[in-house]
Amino acid sequence: MENLKPEKVFEYFGEICKIPHGSGNMEKISACCEEFAKSNGLDYIRDAANNVIIYKPASAGYETAQPIILQGHLDMVCQKDEGVDIDFETDGLDIFLDGDYLKARGTTLGADNGIAVAMIMAILEDKTLSHPPIEAVFTVDEEIGLIGAGKLQFDKLKGKRMINMDSEEQEILTVSCAGGSDFRMTLPVKKIKKSGTEIKIALKGLQGGHSGVEIDKNRTNANILMGEILKVAKENCGIDIISVNGGDKGNAIPNASQAYIVVQNPDAASRIKEFAALKKEEICETESGFIYEISVGDTGEFEVFEKDLCERFVFALSSTPDGVMEMSTEIDGLVETSLNLGILKTGETEIIMHYALRSNKKAGLIALENKMKAFAGKISAKVETFGHYPPWEFKSDSDLQELYKEKYKEKFGQYPLVKAIHAGLECGMFAEGINGIDCISIGPEMHDVHTTKERLSVSSVKNMYELVTNVLAALR
Ligand SMILES: [Zn+2]
Repeated sequence: MENLKPEKVFEYFGEICKIPHGSGNMEKISACCEEFAKSNGLDYIRDAANNVIIYKPASAGYETAQPIILQGHLDMVCQKDEGVDIDFETDGLDIFLDGDYLKARGTTLGADNGIAVAMIMAILEDKTLSHPPIEAVFTVDEEIGLIGAGKLQFDKLKGKRMINMDSEEQEILTVSCAGGSDFRMTLPVKKIKKSGTEIKIALKGLQGGHSGVEIDKNRTNANILMGEILKVAKENCGIDIISVNGGDKGNAIPNASQAYIVVQNPDAASRIKEFAALKKEEICETESGFIYEISVGDTGEFEVFEKDLCERFVFALSSTPDGVMEMSTEIDGLVETSLNLGILKTGETEIIMHYALRSNKKAGLIALENKMKAFAGKISAKVETFGHYPPWEFKSDSDLQELYKEKYKEKFGQYPLVKAIHAGLECGMFAEGINGIDCISIGPEMHDVHTTKERLSVSSVKNMYELVTNVLAALR
């Protein structure tokens, strides 16, 4: 570590790696930031949530400049390989250099987002840099739901512009993120007894994926596919339904779904198979691993959804909005609004349909919620929404974006790629908390974050550190 440059950045990063700082274990790392502020003679606030804000006055000649917020999160995702002897509650990481990459032996490295904290500390410490007043914000528990940012006292910040350093690709400048909410419809279960033959329909082997960043990759949602199959089966064979289940996370595209149904004529199985085969052909390009299993079970008496519930449920599952709703007109290729039916669960007393809703526009999210409420109304489902987080909308007249692009070009000879992401970032919380904030999100090159293969490019840290200091110097 001693030979890595910028020296101070890697010195601080090394210190951070010695302190256990998995999400939910924020006391020690927060105290370390407090200690850092004290020993550098800087004003700071450590709030009840353990977020830390450190204030550094402007350098000479920058006294009248508007303050800049520099931000990163203190927590890391703790993952370890099997057999690795580490207690994330108490132990530090065993980091090592592999070529240009810094890694941790058998665990995540926590460069997401420890390197941001280290870079900001180095900026705060260095008395030779030119910069406006700095408000450094270190938040807790980002990885488990943007918790620290949600509790931050925004009135303690004067800055109206911010550099968030929680991005992972040097060449990308992120300028917007999605907001979202969980949307849950429930239908009370009423069952009746019905004689017939049981058929099991299992759909599996689909790709699945993240319901935000992979929603536009044409992946098949197993629950939605099940809805299509049940609708055709109902129209052609007059089925009854015992249960349907698929997916266990709102924010993951379900890769499997299974249904138990009852038919009067066992031949129905072959007609359902025919339709499933057609669907397989239709999606084979994107879903080569897709498998369907349709098996005939016992004949006898079963508890099935009563007629009206069966009607409403099959209608809901086969005609529900799902996937990409709207593309951005401002940023090429960005999904602006989407939803994902992540969980479908038949319980003893209710059927749950749980969606993750997202939009990079506040108005888009509200419109989508209203649309889903209207849809739920049509099938007399009960509705709950929760887990709201705000979007960070694209700002078309951003001075900070323009300055960053120019400074990036000076350094690398070309402009960065400007992107928005269709997932949540802490910037959304800041956009909600600080009216009219001008914000960018950047970061050095790292790969496979949240896995034990996580690695950080040392040369990219140097590049990005220099770039950020160049940007600061230009913020008169
Ligand atoms: Zn992060």
